[in-house]
Amino acid sequence: MTEEQNRMKLHEAVRNAKGNQTKHRFLAIAVTDQEVEILSCAAGGAYLEMHDYSTGSVSLDEEAIMRDLEERFPILLEKQEEKYPCPVCGDEKEGLFALITCLNDNHGYTRSQVADVIRPIEEAWEAERNGQRSEI
Ligand SMILES: [Zn+2]
Repeated sequence: MTEEQNRMKLHEAVRNAKGNQTKHRFLAIAVTDQEVEILSCAAGGAYLEMHDYSTGSVSLDEEAIMRDLEERFPILLEKQEEKYPCPVCGDEKEGLFALITCLNDNHGYTRSQVADVIRPIEEAWEAERNGQRSEI
C-alpha cells in the first residue's frame, strides 16, 4: 500500500472530528468556568483531526487552516471550480469546500451528515484519479 492510500480521507476526517460544532468559522474557542473548549465547523473539525491540539499547536488563522486542509486533501484544490448542487437548498456551490460550508453553516448538518454527502464525491474523484494513473 502506498502512502497515499493510507492517508486519511476528507470525509473520514470530518466524520471522526471531535468536540462541539460551530458555524461560520473554522475554529472558535469557548471558555466557561469549567474549561476551555475548541469548537469547529465540519472543515475545522477535519483540520483538528489531523493535528494533535493537546500540544497547543493549533492555528486560528483561517487562511493557514485553509492552506493546510488543501495540502492534506488535494480534492479541495483540484475540484475548487467544480459545481456541486447542495442537496438541501439546491444552490450550485463552487467547489467541495463551499458545499461543506453550506451544509454546516446554512443547514446545521452534523459532521457525520456532511461526511455522508462528501464521501461519494470523494470516492468518485479517487476512482477518476486512479483510472488516469493506470492508463499511463
Ligand atoms: Zn445549501
